[in-house]
Amino acid sequence: MQSNVCVVGGGIVGLSSAYFLAKTGHSVTVIERDSIGSHASGFAYGSLSPLGEAGQAEDILPELEIARMGMDIHTQFSRELFESTGIKTDHRFRPALDLTFTASEATKAKKQVEWRTDEKGYRVEWLSSEEALQVNPHISKEILGAVYTEGVADVEPYKLLLALTQACELLGVDIVHGDVSGVIRKGTTITITTQSGLRTCDNLVLAMGPWMGKTAEWLGIEVPITPLKGQIVRLNAPNVTVNCSVGWQGNYACTKPDGLLWAGTTEENVGFNDIPTINGRDQILEALNKMIPNLDDATLVQHTACLRPLPVDGKIIIGSVPNDQNIFLATGTGRKGILLGPAMGKIISQLISDQQPEVEITSFSPARFASL
Ligand SMILES: Cc1cc2nc3c(=O)[nH]c(=O)nc-3n(C[C@H](O)[C@H](O)[C@H](O)COP(=O)(O)OP(=O)(O)OC[C@H]3O[C@@H](n4cnc5c(N)ncnc54)[C@H](O)[C@@H]3O)c2cc1C
Repeated sequence: MQSNVCVVGGGIVGLSSAYFLAKTGHSVTVIERDSIGSHASGFAYGSLSPLGEAGQAEDILPELEIARMGMDIHTQFSRELFESTGIKTDHRFRPALDLTFTASEATKAKKQVEWRTDEKGYRVEWLSSEEALQVNPHISKEILGAVYTEGVADVEPYKLLLALTQACELLGVDIVHGDVSGVIRKGTTITITTQSGLRTCDNLVLAMGPWMGKTAEWLGIEVPITPLKGQIVRLNAPNVTVNCSVGWQGNYACTKPDGLLWAGTTEENVGFNDIPTINGRDQILEALNKMIPNLDDATLVQHTACLRPLPVDGKIIIGSVPNDQNIFLATGTGRKGILLGPAMGKIISQLISDQQPEVEITSFSPARFASL
């Protein structure tokens, strides 16, 4: 049944939900208090890999099926959004090269190769340092070896958000400015309060990223999400092209289609402070220099910081709230929201359209926090 849906949050999760809901025939309003894509969704690195990051995840992602779905939707988006809006999302397949400098890093990375090779559609192998240097001659000669992965991709998050926004508008989605401050449930109607007045809807999607904790006050349920700050720099490095995503211990760098060398990142527990810092910049540059030395003539072009929505138990949150089948939460994507966001949007649309989600989502339900 087609319904009137309000989506709170104009990040990748909210906009993807709006896009798929509108395509299914629902009447959709997105409410965003700042600008569309002005937080993590617009300023992420944009790496797309369902295999986890070498040096980061030791185990298979709990959201692997959703991540696979995300990979497919990104490929679909790159065509579909370009056709409808003329905006390129800069989606491309490019390899990843995860470096190791110590024996323990190498042992861990080789273990990851074992389970990563099981994933269909990817080529994953351990390379000696000589072989890795053939993939990219700019990486450090100090490495012991590297994990090479083909089949992973990236996208320019801000362009993706821009394309999604325009595609949503072409589908009739109303995108409005507003700071949502509460939710009132009366009978079959859901009312949300904003500074500029009240709005009613049949279904409500809360996709407020790291600010989802607020919903505890509105709905009387726990949504244990905390902000995890991350910073990124973009450099003009005229003599160095990094044609793959080079990674080490959660740090990464790659020359993007804009010609700039993007590098990150930090993980900082500093509440809702999202100001770029000199310490953050220096930490990134130090790791970058270890991975890719000889960047002496590189100059800093842009330095950004934003907040990841970090779930307390490491798993995304998606589904209706325990006491209300028409109010949906979608968040908790941590370092993977650009990859997972479009798939989460499609799942939200399937749930609201009374369709069976195409992947199993029970373990990601907000109901798991009911006893907190
Ligand atoms: C440095 C960095 C690098 C990253 N790199 C990658 C990567 O390479 N690959 C990847 O997959 N992921 C990456 N991520 C993670 C990804 O960016 C996030 O997981 C994702 O963007 C979260 O999307 P979201 O829509 O949930 O939240 P957000 O993008 O934060 O959007 C939430 C929106 O809700 C709005 N909002 C909040 N409260 C209200 C309210 N009360 N009323 C109205 N609006 C409200 C906010 O203004 C915001 O615009 C990275 C993150 C960081 C910080």
